[in-house]
Amino acid sequence: MLSPTHEEEITTLVAGSLKSYKELPIRLYQISEQRPLIMVLRGTHSFIARKYRDERRPRGGLLRTREFLMKDLYTFDLDDKAALGTYHNVKDAYDGIFQELKIKYLVAEADSGSMGGSYSHEFHFATPVGEDNVISCNECSYVANEELAERRLSSSASADAPVGVSTFISHDGFTLVKVHYGRVTDPKTGETIGLNIHALKKALPSLDIDFGVEEPEGKWRSNQASQAMLARDQSFTTTHVFDGTLAYRSQPLDGTMSPQSSATTTKILAHPQTGHPLDLTGISNGDNCPRCPTGQLSVQRAVELGHTFHLGTRYSEPLGAAVSIPGKEQKMALSMGCHGIGITRMIAAVASILADGKGLNWPRVIAPYEVVIVPRKGHEGDAEGVYDALIGAGRADAALDDRKLDFIWKLNDADRFGFPVVVVLGRAWKAQQKCEVQCRRLGNLKQEVALEDLPSFVAGLLSQL
Ligand SMILES: [Zn+2]
Repeated sequence: MLSPTHEEEITTLVAGSLKSYKELPIRLYQISEQRPLIMVLRGTHSFIARKYRDERRPRGGLLRTREFLMKDLYTFDLDDKAALGTYHNVKDAYDGIFQELKIKYLVAEADSGSMGGSYSHEFHFATPVGEDNVISCNECSYVANEELAERRLSSSASADAPVGVSTFISHDGFTLVKVHYGRVTDPKTGETIGLNIHALKKALPSLDIDFGVEEPEGKWRSNQASQAMLARDQSFTTTHVFDGTLAYRSQPLDGTMSPQSSATTTKILAHPQTGHPLDLTGISNGDNCPRCPTGQLSVQRAVELGHTFHLGTRYSEPLGAAVSIPGKEQKMALSMGCHGIGITRMIAAVASILADGKGLNWPRVIAPYEVVIVPRKGHEGDAEGVYDALIGAGRADAALDDRKLDFIWKLNDADRFGFPVVVVLGRAWKAQQKCEVQCRRLGNLKQEVALEDLPSFVAGLLSQL
């Protein structure tokens, strides 16, 4: 079975093996192994393997490799209340993991999109090499991903922006949709911000737009022509949609943009549910926060590393993952959640964020070793004593570079490999039995420390990394 995620398989597995509500809650982890894991369940073979992807236009280097590892978690609870409790437990655990890395991260409210759930959060690192945009307020705690982000429209913004028009066609092929919007320039990046497709989909689902058609107007005309030949009587219509940014313009909308009302032409100027002006252009830096009165939004490039979803009964109901409850006639569908962290992607993201001109930099919790000891020629024996002092005190997990290589070569390697702390036995050791402790991430620190002070000094540095 090839699929991007495994909700159906896991739900089927639980539906077939759950005997009583007393077995709940259930948490099923899926962490792919080096060799594929084959599960045999009631004569069916479930095949859970590493994840692969083969993209038409590969990009992003290590961030989007063909093969990657994920940690997935599927949760099953008796009802929504219990499932939301689980959801918050998982989210807290993810927060704990990200806090231990000591790298600033963003938790964005997210659209559950194709997963179909009703509640979800994304965990991001802000980095210019990221592929997503995360929108956050500079005054309140509002953080959202691009698909969900909103803003308060202001009357001053984009009053004279040039007008853009995007054309679409409905799935049934009868309605041509023309969306008119202001092409705003982002004051910070200078980029032109155009139509936000997510916002259009969300605000006007009734238009049932087929976003996959490349030449919608041509298709709509040819549909009309072929219908005329068949002499059928179905009406072809045009719908003009006007973004709220145009409503604030100093110049009134001209004739081409405010079409004459006719039987075959409709105009949409407001959100069908709220009655407010439509907000269909992308968010730019400096837009108004939707949650607080004075905050401004900023748009940051980010890389997504983790995701939590509350799924409810979307999979359990159709796939029959349900239990009998005493005193209730009908079986109850379980309430589900699914959660994931991209493990290999996290390593790539950390590498790209913390690396500098000299090499990698690992946070203490994922560094293979917290400290490396590099002795100059002649100090190898003493270096073992320093190693024992660090390890023996239980304060640091150290490696000793005893390769028969040039001292300078080993120092360069220590920087390249990204050990959080480097302890050098060089000139200061020879002169006064002091180690030189180096740490690039803490302001290129270089300090001479006596052996007896070394364990506590190193522990103090590591607590900041
Ligand atoms: Zn705010």
